[in-house]
Amino acid sequence: MKRLGILFVISAPSGAGKSTICISLRQTPDTVYAVSCTTRAPRAGEIDGEDYHFMHPDEFERRIAAGDFLEYARVHNHYYGTLRQTIVDHLRDGIDVLVDIDIQGAASIRQSTDSFIRDSLVDIFIMPPNLEELRHRLIKRGTETAEQIEFRLAAAAAEMKCWREYRYTIISGSMEEDLQKFRAITRAERYLSRRIISLET
Ligand code: 5GP
Repeated sequence: MKRLGILFVISAPSGAGKSTICISLRQTPDTVYAVSCTTRAPRAGEIDGEDYHFMHPDEFERRIAAGDFLEYARVHNHYYGTLRQTIVDHLRDGIDVLVDIDIQGAASIRQSTDSFIRDSLVDIFIMPPNLEELRHRLIKRGTETAEQIEFRLAAAAAEMKCWREYRYTIISGSMEEDLQKFRAITRAERYLSRRIISLET
């Protein structure tokens, strides 16, 4: 018997603590983090191919036309997208894949015409405790200007209304609490009968 991989989709307003979860999970052997493509500029310390595949908009649009993306969206005035092939290969090999995408990307995966993708999907929303805490975390992160922080907070308020569309919602607390809640979800999802396939003929 073998298990098919799970496509864990995590969405959260920026600063909600999602990156911390993603970074910790990247260090576990049973889950692969799918690196997204983006047309935004790298932030200080970000590494091409590790944080994102940083792409020129022309290249991004060429790959949209080639059908290479499982989903893509415009977020904060830039393109962001998830490449299809590596994800599908991992899922078929029984390896879980984690993607960190916005609410539009999660919605388009939910509506995928590919039933293999829909069946593998487990979507999780990370809800910041409140907007003030989010503002505080963004200021502390120090990677955006005051204007960009206000822009992201306005986007966050809109994103936070979508939590019901997700199968799971984690109300963000400390990093350790968030990780424990996430691990509880992953553990149970791995034992779903429908994910097990029998190799007997
Ligand atoms: P940031 O610029 O802070 O790294 O990410 C901004 C937003 O883009 C976040 O909400 C993040 O989840 C989203 N994002 C990152 N990668 C993807 C992707 O491949 N597809 C979509 N739809 N959103 C993404």
